[in-house]
Amino acid sequence: MERLARHFALPYAVAERRFTRQAWGRKWVMRRKADKHFGRICQFFDTKKRCCTIYHARPSVCRSFPGEGRCGYYDFLMFERRAQNDPTFVALTNHR
Ligand code: SF4
Repeated sequence: MERLARHFALPYAVAERRFTRQAWGRKWVMRRKADKHFGRICQFFDTKKRCCTIYHARPSVCRSFPGEGRCGYYDFLMFERRAQNDPTFVALTNHR
């Protein structure tokens, strides 16, 4: 939260209110927004370029997920774009 507040030059309490909410017994859950592919997605995700807009200020949970230093979804997305020979292809991780 401190990293996000610093990144956006906001007081800690404002950043906390603006970017997170309490849910599922957790103090901080990132707020989300609509996404045509996943329904809801992190508010910091660029839904056109399919990447993080605050990469250098991303929260610790994002830095450690999925337990490595790299973003698993990004690697998957780039792999699928190469495989499909389509730089705009959006890979889904689940189907409804
Ligand atoms: S890396 Fe984290 S902050 Fe960035 S878009 Fe993904 S979930 Fe959001």
